[in-house]
Amino acid sequence: MADLTIRNITTVLTMDDGRSELTDCDIRITDGMIAAVGPDLDPMGEVVEAKGCLVTPGLVNTHHHLYQTLTRAVPGGQDALLFGWLKTLYPIWARFGPEEMRISALTGLAELALSGCTLTSDHLYLFPNGARLDDTIDAAREIGMRFHPTRGSMSIGESAGGLPPDSVVEREEDILNDCIRVIDAHHDASEGSMIRVGVAPCSPFSVSRELMRDAALLARDKGVMLHTHLAENDEDIAYSEEMFGCRPGQYAEDLGWTGDDVWHAHCVKLDGAEIDLFARSRTGVAHCPCSNCRLGSGIAPVRAMRDAGVRVGLGVDGSASNDAGNLVAEARQAMLLQRVARGADKMSAREALWIATRGGAEVLGRDDCGQIAVRKRADIAVWDVSGVESAGSWDPAALLLAGPTRVKHLFVEGRQVVRDGYLTTIDLPRVIETQNRLATALAR
Ligand SMILES: [Zn+2]
Repeated sequence: MADLTIRNITTVLTMDDGRSELTDCDIRITDGMIAAVGPDLDPMGEVVEAKGCLVTPGLVNTHHHLYQTLTRAVPGGQDALLFGWLKTLYPIWARFGPEEMRISALTGLAELALSGCTLTSDHLYLFPNGARLDDTIDAAREIGMRFHPTRGSMSIGESAGGLPPDSVVEREEDILNDCIRVIDAHHDASEGSMIRVGVAPCSPFSVSRELMRDAALLARDKGVMLHTHLAENDEDIAYSEEMFGCRPGQYAEDLGWTGDDVWHAHCVKLDGAEIDLFARSRTGVAHCPCSNCRLGSGIAPVRAMRDAGVRVGLGVDGSASNDAGNLVAEARQAMLLQRVARGADKMSAREALWIATRGGAEVLGRDDCGQIAVRKRADIAVWDVSGVESAGSWDPAALLLAGPTRVKHLFVEGRQVVRDGYLTTIDLPRVIETQNRLATALAR
């Protein structure tokens, strides 16, 4: 028995292997999976009408720090470069606890869902005052988002020559033990999994060489993925050359941080040899165009990466450095930024949307998500292209050129998380009220 049929869809961008685009068709969903796609299917189960709508796979976000939604537009960090920005925010983040982690995650996840996202990773790398990765996992379960949380960490504080204050760093032994705890408690490797945990030391400038190496060994032992920040801006490259005597790509390769089970955020400054290394080793990249613009880091060489065969997904990055978390807007920014760097014919609206869906799913190791095809998971975004944003468009499927920035409906594992533009699973006004109360308290 079907759970649901989405009927009379005007256009479907499937993002399947043939990049098929279908018109006037239906999608039938059974047990969280796409059971049939085609014209005039018998309507079974609940029926959702989608006339005048564009349907895409749910968007995939490959880099975020959900907790940062509580520190958006902090005055001292608004115009700073990466390292200065971090130094402004670390002492504020040090005052977070479990409630701040859960509510900020709910806020960030809600914003993502409304912008078409069905699968997101998260990179949480500080655990003050009893906060745990579990706080964010609770939030993802509550909202119904497919979730890849990564257990981040920082171990080199200011007194040891690192960037973060000593109060937010942890002992390396404790970090590794907690990685094992959260993997054993929450990681689900099965097809259709709603939670997959990764291991993610924050960056080469906030943990030791030993922790980077041990984290890679642990992740491979447990069969989970590895994630960190890499080659984000010029300061980052200079730090690598001065402290490690090599570029970030070399550092990553030496410590086991390349492979199809690894993805790195930003990679704005990868050079040609590093792009070849990533392509050869199937290492993934989370491209974060708005954050890169916001922090003035530069334009990531996404065109060169894609041409070389590097797997690239999209990330909104933490909401303190974006400061928004709208994934479809992020995809538009990715398209525009490559055009600024390379020319108007270097990134089409469809390619940028492919990166935001199928590309992200590949980076996160999910061949069961990111496309609309039979036997793939039913993660589906329904965009109303009959409204003012698309009015007059000759090609409503060119969503990133002219289209809505919020979904009409969103399905995750076949469950409707957004209906007619509203979240069905949480009381969003109440979450916003709590979020603003917590932000006000932190500002005092
Ligand atoms: Zn980041």
